[in-house]
Amino acid sequence: AREQRWQMRVANDGAGHRIVHLIDQTGNYQTEKIRVDFVANASHELRTPLASILGFIETLDDPNAGGDAEVRGRFLKVMFDEARRMQRLVDDLMSLSRIEAEKYRLPDRAVDLAALVEEVSIELAQGGGARVEDIVLDLANGVPPIAGDRAQLSQLVHNLAGNALKYGRAGTPVTLTLRADSGGMVALTVTDQGDGIAPQHLPRLTERFYRVDPGRSRAAGGTGLGLAIVKHIVERHRGRLDIASKLGVGTTVTVLIPRAAEPVSSKFHGTVTE
Ligand code: ADP
Repeated sequence: AREQRWQMRVANDGAGHRIVHLIDQTGNYQTEKIRVDFVANASHELRTPLASILGFIETLDDPNAGGDAEVRGRFLKVMFDEARRMQRLVDDLMSLSRIEAEKYRLPDRAVDLAALVEEVSIELAQGGGARVEDIVLDLANGVPPIAGDRAQLSQLVHNLAGNALKYGRAGTPVTLTLRADSGGMVALTVTDQGDGIAPQHLPRLTERFYRVDPGRSRAAGGTGLGLAIVKHIVERHRGRLDIASKLGVGTTVTVLIPRAAEPVSSKFHGTVTE
């Protein structure tokens, strides 16, 4: 059961009555709590690598400890990795706030998702470091354009395919499928053959900083914000996000986005009276 929060307002009506208003603040309280938790989590996520970098600088600054070239090299590598972690986190935080700021502006560019999926996949493949065997693209011909924001959709594909590559099992493929469904939606699915996700985690995956296995996420360079960003992008595109997973089998993420509206006909059918 959700915890209820009440605000009490007391007033005297001047005729000897005390008027007490009990106002349900549960909704406001929860929104506020999510915001406060988010700031606390983000600060914590930034503070950990920062503390590590500062610690190594101090050590390097100590003439007794930091002299050896081999040790210095190793320390610099750790500092570089930690700084990169902070950079990814700041980039993701900025993406989230930008997407949220644009929440009420419908994206209106016609975007060819097939071309975009191909582009992002090539980028990811060239990035290297993936454990999975290969990326398979199964893109139907003639998928209509969707009304979208190209940069955001590119980030969506990047985050979903990136997760599949991160959490997929070594030696198995990651598959990206694109189809036009009969309901006027374009469906993108990303499937991996990884360890999968236990059902109790599924509803929480799009929460900011929610991780099933924090150690593994961090080791793979995850920020814990990838799916939160995906969710916001899907919402801005008036789409739907569905994550299905089976432990030991793998995960399939499906995104449905409405196709671009037909171009407005230039023919005028009405009559004009003056
Ligand atoms: P992260 O940066 O940690 O990957 P995300 O927001 O992208 O953050 O995902 C949240 C969590 O969901 C991950 O930490 C991971 O535990 C889980 N997850 C996401 N995608 C997959 C996947 N394809 N297979 C298994 N677990 C996944």
